[in-house]
Amino acid sequence: MMFVVGLTGGIGSGKTTVANLFAELGVKLVDADVVSRQVVAPGTKGLSALVEHFGRDLLNAEGQLDRAALRAHIFNDEKAWQWVNALLHPLIRSEMQKQLQAASSTYVVWVVPLLIENGLFEDCDRVLVVDAHEHQQRSRVLARDSKADADAIMARQLSRHERLKYADHIVDNSGDLDDLKAQVQLLHHLYLSEAQQKRL
Ligand code: ADP
Repeated sequence: MMFVVGLTGGIGSGKTTVANLFAELGVKLVDADVVSRQVVAPGTKGLSALVEHFGRDLLNAEGQLDRAALRAHIFNDEKAWQWVNALLHPLIRSEMQKQLQAASSTYVVWVVPLLIENGLFEDCDRVLVVDAHEHQQRSRVLARDSKADADAIMARQLSRHERLKYADHIVDNSGDLDDLKAQVQLLHHLYLSEAQQKRL
């Protein structure tokens, strides 16, 4: 079994930045956001099931899922929303498991914004939480996208305090990128040795 490090944190905490630092060290990533798009890519079971249910107006001119059209169908329609979740969640979960087990590095980093909220921490050997002050999260999100509503998203996520209770390790992203890199280096060596232990 692959040694899986679940990487999570609130919006703007620095998950993507930390994940990319692991990738630079040769660690394979499985990203929940990427997988959730892969399972509805053209030619997938996921996309054909959506089109069969809601109709061809879900597709744009390139034959890809038009996410705004899907949102319009499920907006204010609890039954439709549940139907879509019941379709996509198992597809996303099994595709993530497939990618985790197929990863070609000594261990794999699994990036999931809602790792704890969705109970996926249970499938991890270690949970790594990226932590920053709320005011840093807010200002970094706004710097990335001036229209983003960081507060609304943060309100739907676990609080910092609750999330940290699940952490085996914490990356403190209140400093600069060099500081972040140094923490990732240390964790990388720890995870390499823990992953080798697991194989024995
Ligand atoms: P998340 O994936 O958790 O939403 P990101 O890694 O995308 O967060 O980081 C949010 C934004 O803040 C990005 O634009 C990123 O480049 C920037 N950022 C992340 N960490 C730092 C840091 N230590 N110092 C300055 N900017 C940072």
